[in-house]
Amino acid sequence: MTVKLYNTLTKEKSNFVPLNGNEVRIYSCGPTVYNYAHIGNFRTYVFMDNLRRVLEYNGYTLKHVMNITDVGHLESDADEGEDKMEKAARKENKSPYEIAKFYTEAFFKDMDKLNIERPEIIAKATEHIPEMLEFAKEIVKNGYGYETSTAIYFDVSKLDKYPVLSNRNVEDQIAGARVEVDPEKRNPYDFAIWIKAPENHIMKWDSPWGLSYPGWHLECSAMSRKYLGELFDIHTGGVDHIPTHHENEIAQSKGAFGKIPARYWMHVEFLQVDGGKMSKSLGNVYTISQLEEKGIEALAYKLFCYTAHYRTKLNFTFEGALASQKALNRLRESYLKHQKGKDDVNDKFLQECKEKFIEAVNDDINLPLAMGIVWELARHEVKSKKIADLLLDFDRVLGLDLKNSEDYLNKQKEIDVPEEVKELIEKRKKARENKAWALSDEIRDELKEKGYIVKDTKAGMTLEKI
Ligand code: AMP
Ligand code: ZN
Repeated sequence: MTVKLYNTLTKEKSNFVPLNGNEVRIYSCGPTVYNYAHIGNFRTYVFMDNLRRVLEYNGYTLKHVMNITDVGHLESDADEGEDKMEKAARKENKSPYEIAKFYTEAFFKDMDKLNIERPEIIAKATEHIPEMLEFAKEIVKNGYGYETSTAIYFDVSKLDKYPVLSNRNVEDQIAGARVEVDPEKRNPYDFAIWIKAPENHIMKWDSPWGLSYPGWHLECSAMSRKYLGELFDIHTGGVDHIPTHHENEIAQSKGAFGKIPARYWMHVEFLQVDGGKMSKSLGNVYTISQLEEKGIEALAYKLFCYTAHYRTKLNFTFEGALASQKALNRLRESYLKHQKGKDDVNDKFLQECKEKFIEAVNDDINLPLAMGIVWELARHEVKSKKIADLLLDFDRVLGLDLKNSEDYLNKQKEIDVPEEVKELIEKRKKARENKAWALSDEIRDELKEKGYIVKDTKAGMTLEKI
């Protein structure tokens, strides 16, 4: 089976062959943990999960690194403004490390709700300062870096070609460049690899250039080399990374060791809201928790993502997401019906469905097309255990946790219970969080007296009426 992937570098879809036998080495740009990740960010991580799962479905093993940016990402990707972490720390009256810890945990809670597989290696920027410093020194030693009074800049004019991912040429970029902030920069598109820390900056380290901290782009170059080597298979991120972050990662690797570090560069198009950009001022930057408050599960949002190919824009509306919630429940119900089905179904039909599904997902992760086949099977009038098994097999790619369908459906029935029962459930949840098992059991018995049975499952707690 051949997997075809679109590559931003070559602007073509081509047959993917890993560099190193059966192992695929992937690097994904991860979150900047200064706030809750929003559903747009999660579109990118849902894609990352889809890519992983498709490769695994095809029998590849993965070595996948995702970074956590906890230092150096300034308010603008082009080296302007304050460090996002420090700004959040000041606002919340905490240390940048506390901010990072809190939002990293929140990020992974949402990732788990979305049933997104964890990359093999999670790498925090602040835990890789020596590697980054080494990288910066190599760039400078090779003649690609220069010092100003505020930073160590990468000199893009020293490269044979810049940019390589975006279509624009350097002249266009210079013409389109914004007003310069740092008059000491040699070229408008030079970028900071190392930044001299102002007096009040909290996160700073010793370096040949005094107390300072790394520029955002450097962490991905240094950590990908550390874990995946100078040349690896696939690099992922959102389309906003193409013109700056990924161009600059490539520049840095060329400066340090003369190579574009990854062969395939894959980018996810943006999620829009109500046909426009998500922005704080419009109040439409939604989180997974906000969706849940409106009765939309994280997994329903994942299914919603499958309504568009990852390389096309996707427009989020609550109507659309609620429709995906209904669809997900229908899919779960169909799966359960097939599971209990006694009838037989033609093996040739199943084989054809499987082939069509594989063809779709292997064609640059075409999930909208693959979902068409999933629905054809789910809706099949013959109810057969074989169909349920095939749906579970497809779920290795979809990652919708179909095997726990019953639990999810039961959990939703909980919503119609009396207030006093809801309060008891909340009390029991807290007791369990505090590991107060005896109290939790007491409340369970009390609930039973009131006619409800609670069960603790992977999907969370379920409630059944006796
Ligand atoms: P950040 O935490 O800002 O570094 O972003 C994390 C990831 O989310 C990056 O890969 C971005 O490209 C991606 N991203 C940001 N906004 C959106 C959006 N509206 N739709 C899809 N991906 C996004
Ligand atoms: Zn990155």
